[in-house]
Amino acid sequence: MLIVTNPATGAKLAELPTDTPTSIAHAYARARAAQPAWAATPLAQRLACVRRFRDGIVRETERLAAILTSEVGKPIRQSRNELAGLLGRLDFFLQATEPTLAPRVVHEEGGMRERITHEPLGVVANISAWNYPYFVGANVFVPALLAGNGVLYKPSEYATLTGIEIGNLLHGAGIPQNVFQVIVGGGEAGEALLAQPVDGVFFTGSYATGARIAQAVGPRMIRLQLELGGKDPAYVCEDVDVPAAAASLADGAMYNTGQSCCSVERIYVHQAIHDAFVEAFVKEVRGFRIGDPTDEASYIGPLTRAAQLDVLQAQVADAKAKGARLLTGGRRLDPPGHWFEPTVFSHVDHTMALMREESFGPIIGIQKVSSDDEAVRLMNDTDYGLTAAVYTKDAARAERILAQVQAGSVYWNCCDRVSPRLPWSGVKRSGIGLTLSTYGIEAFTRPKAWHLRAL
Ligand code: NAD
Repeated sequence: MLIVTNPATGAKLAELPTDTPTSIAHAYARARAAQPAWAATPLAQRLACVRRFRDGIVRETERLAAILTSEVGKPIRQSRNELAGLLGRLDFFLQATEPTLAPRVVHEEGGMRERITHEPLGVVANISAWNYPYFVGANVFVPALLAGNGVLYKPSEYATLTGIEIGNLLHGAGIPQNVFQVIVGGGEAGEALLAQPVDGVFFTGSYATGARIAQAVGPRMIRLQLELGGKDPAYVCEDVDVPAAAASLADGAMYNTGQSCCSVERIYVHQAIHDAFVEAFVKEVRGFRIGDPTDEASYIGPLTRAAQLDVLQAQVADAKAKGARLLTGGRRLDPPGHWFEPTVFSHVDHTMALMREESFGPIIGIQKVSSDDEAVRLMNDTDYGLTAAVYTKDAARAERILAQVQAGSVYWNCCDRVSPRLPWSGVKRSGIGLTLSTYGIEAFTRPKAWHLRAL
């Protein structure tokens, strides 16, 4: 049984039967049998299903947002924002899939024609994270389904009610029951799913789990994508509007209670404005309302996972012991629920876990730097490489700095942003493969090369 609890209160929300290795093997067999007919369904009909799924999201937004808030603790306005943001992603897939997957004749000479088609992979496993279940889920299952794949979708055990709702909406929109199936459970269910002879594994989650999955799946020579964690840096140059930069970065660090893969997790500030920036940043953070996530006014909610409280407490203790200055926050709040104060440190350095390991919570270190070169060196001094941001009025300076930063996405005067039109990927421990953009549609297909000679 999977017990779903509310992270804000500790109250039990549901008790769900978990999938077993046997039920997962049966789900796989049903998906394998159903996939060819789905792949043979005209793309226009598959697109119509996704359009109806979109209608369902619009119709049910309030109910779905309430469920997401209850099981993940996401403040209600941010749950609504996630659902609204999903619509933009669906619109992108609805508009871009047909041109991206259309067969292409790439050469004709004499009687020889060369053509590329995009074949579905077959049946794919989608093992997902809880922090943005609609975003990270749909980045995979929507293009996977549109490309003609069967999908076995395992939502995180911390977002299972949302995963079940997604399944119901897709089925209500016309996706056949066996083509999209929701697998309920935690790590064990994930392992049992990976034991099936699927044609692709698409994972979103932590580096630790991703590395384990890569080891298990590597020898099978199937498509493997891993979207993993980050320790995303931002650099603030001395020419910025200080309050505006502080407001943007405080939001980038603390939105979703700091539990975004692309949350700002380290800030470097030019020494000329360091003190003014720190003051403005702390003022912003102190203005964030922490409280009941169902309250419209709340901006910081509980942490979704209780275990993360220990990670944050250890980072605070380590930073203090090594000489960092605690400017606000720093404590977990009493139960019920998993609450941690929004926390800001200055006088940090790279000997501290706070500046090296993913925090995934409302906590940030701000470090003073004396030059662009020093900022670039520190931004790249990490095991991760998901995103990086620079704040400056000078476009050429921003381009010069961002060109040197090793990250999948780079931002000028913005942060913590994802666009469906751009590829979403990481370097180093942030993962392999990508979602979104037209590349993130092709990712669910195998290009087939046709050499055709007319006689
Ligand atoms: P997690 O690694 O704990 O779990 C992710 C999924 O893997 C869950 O569904 C879980 O049940 C499953 N799982 C756990 N052990 C498994 C095993 N041995 N075999 C198969 N499946 C297993 O991660 P999480 O706590 O759900 O998510 C947070 C992490 O995800 C953070 O590191 C965050 O940065 C990252 N993330 C990355 C992106 C991105 O786009 N790069 C997006 C969102 C989250």
